[in-house]
Amino acid sequence: MFTDKHLKIFFNLCIALLINGFAYGQAEDSLFVSKGAVSFKKVMLDGKLFYRNEKTKEFISQSAYNYISEARNGKTLPDTNRIVHGQGDDYWQNDRVNPYRGAVLPTPYKIAFDQTTFTHPVDGDIVITSRFGRRRRGPHRGLDLDLVTGDTVRSVLPGIVRFVGYSRGHGKTVIVRHANEVETLYAHLSDYAVEPNDLIYEGQLLGFGGNTGNSRGSHLHLEVRYKGVCIHPQYVFNFDGSQAIRGSELWVTNEWKTPRFHSSYRTSKVTPIFTETDAIAAQKAEPRYHRVRKGETLSHIAGRYQLRLKEIYQLNPIPKNAILNIGQAIQVR
Ligand SMILES: [Zn+2]
Repeated sequence: MFTDKHLKIFFNLCIALLINGFAYGQAEDSLFVSKGAVSFKKVMLDGKLFYRNEKTKEFISQSAYNYISEARNGKTLPDTNRIVHGQGDDYWQNDRVNPYRGAVLPTPYKIAFDQTTFTHPVDGDIVITSRFGRRRRGPHRGLDLDLVTGDTVRSVLPGIVRFVGYSRGHGKTVIVRHANEVETLYAHLSDYAVEPNDLIYEGQLLGFGGNTGNSRGSHLHLEVRYKGVCIHPQYVFNFDGSQAIRGSELWVTNEWKTPRFHSSYRTSKVTPIFTETDAIAAQKAEPRYHRVRKGETLSHIAGRYQLRLKEIYQLNPIPKNAILNIGQAIQVR
């Protein structure tokens, strides 16, 4: 007898078939992609995309797949021997934005590059919306480049991915370690396309632009770091369209690592320094500041820097007998 109960079972069976059939159909629809003699099948595992080598049945990540694909296209690949992991493993940490915390890095210091050009981190025209320097909300230690959420973000140089993760302020962030311990940081991403310890070529897709973290409107916040200290990105990379690195050996003075010396609203004039002698001379000519401590007066500060009180007033536009605030910066040179 064909009853309501049978009808219900039949109906459920149809639903099950439909769902399973659909899922099965999707699996069948997965793309087979060929890389030379090897074909890869795209598979989703735990919501993540992998590629299965149809010969070895081995699974590889999207980035590993990209790597193979680009290696075949003859792109620049990093020379792993040139990428410094730091002393021992102390400075190679995948879970910290800055593994160099506590390390002392006196200026001036030299940073070196193996190549003369770089790849723009975003495709198309470069629109700089904010520079390294002072700004109303406090110091800005990177360069902001305009983009639309979902736009590709690429590595400016070859290297190894050191950090992939969410960082307060920076949002979704990727950090790449390049040769000679220089790092680049890409912040406010909407998604990642690489994993820690991935070996990447110049121009490789790192992730997608976005608005995560402390960001007003989607943009890329790019930082250039050396041993945990941010350097003015435009001191290193020329964004005038030439895609030139300003020198194979650049000397970083206090000026090029201190936001106070620059305005994020204006372009700073960049004169690269190529020798230690020039760097020392440039640094001697830089203004210097003293942070006021509890109980200090201008006379104390003047005495400390062998200045006359008159000279302090010449350097600082403050009224006579003004009360100093703790932490206030007083120019002493
Ligand atoms: Zn920024």
